[in-house]
Amino acid sequence: MKLTIRQEDLNRIIKAAKKSGIEICGFLFGRKNCESAIVKDIRFITNRIGSPTAFEMEPLEMVQAIDEAEKRGLEVVGIFHSHLKCPPRPSGHDLPGMRLWPVVWLIVDDNGNYRAFVLEGEKVREVPVEIVSSITDQWQRGPKKGEC
Ligand SMILES: [Zn+2]
Repeated sequence: MKLTIRQEDLNRIIKAAKKSGIEICGFLFGRKNCESAIVKDIRFITNRIGSPTAFEMEPLEMVQAIDEAEKRGLEVVGIFHSHLKCPPRPSGHDLPGMRLWPVVWLIVDDNGNYRAFVLEGEKVREVPVEIVSSITDQWQRGPKKGEC
């Protein structure tokens, strides 16, 4: 698995993480198959528990965001959130969420570091992140919706 995301989108996530006193979170929308996930759009969702060490996405916002994305032919390819003052790798809090949402988990910290992971069985595996200035090419030859 590989995650492809625009520099601009990643920067928006990192910028929000640096500014926030709580974990920020949201969806990566795009298309995916077994080998790759391409992010076409990102969407911030309110962290309803307002915690600096954990997040829970506001359910109504989640439903609305997914509905809107599906109308545009996009699916959830990833979930992003931030860690404050600890490295961007899945915490004990994140594992139940990763089980629930078996997509790529992009984690950033407030220093601008970022890493991505998937849960395979009970094993956390790191996913390479490809940063691009434009996804136009990848989008045209990349995975079609629901290919895998
Ligand atoms: Zn986390």
